[in-house]
Amino acid sequence: MENIAYVGLGSNMGNSKQTLQAVLEDLNQEPDLDVEQVSHFYVTDPVGMVDQDQFVNAVIKLKTSLTAEALLDVLHRYEQKYHRVRTIHWGPRTLDLDIELFNNDVINNAVLDVPHREMFNRLFVLVPLQEIMDKTHPKYQQVSDAINTLNGSQYIMRLDEIGK
Ligand code: ADP
Ligand code: MG
Repeated sequence: MENIAYVGLGSNMGNSKQTLQAVLEDLNQEPDLDVEQVSHFYVTDPVGMVDQDQFVNAVIKLKTSLTAEALLDVLHRYEQKYHRVRTIHWGPRTLDLDIELFNNDVINNAVLDVPHREMFNRLFVLVPLQEIMDKTHPKYQQVSDAINTLNGSQYIMRLDEIGK
């Protein structure tokens, strides 16, 4: 389990909290990876395609013997498992799993961009990520700086603090 990956979880259709809890249980059963840390769950406003429901987001820290590409395949398998609700317009999803960081690797190929292209613009990634990130990670300062820059510009609240 030599690689450290930070994975973002998001859902805004169906019972989002329940979906995230269920996929965490699934991931805990997966061989070749260990879920080492789980952030709090956050309620966030959609960013980008804004005319949709609020999301529940979290970030987890994994240790894994998988390559980033093999990890993405595992994550896609679980997206499919929970992508039960179909809508005409895409955008809302029962489950989105993104690789935010994989060690300190830079990956740009047909299936993967790591660090995730949008992570430094998204408080719904940065805030839960900072909560569980190793303080010695080479990207830690950049994550903190981005949070300070974006603070207040995107709605994000801890799910447990708003009584949900
Ligand atoms: P999005 O997350 O951007 O809303 P999707 O979840 O549908 O959209 O992802 C579309 C594609 O993005 C995936 O099939 C995957 O190949 C690609 N992708 C590129 N970089 C990443 C990454 N870091 N994590 C997850 N998917 C990624
Ligand atoms: Mg995605």
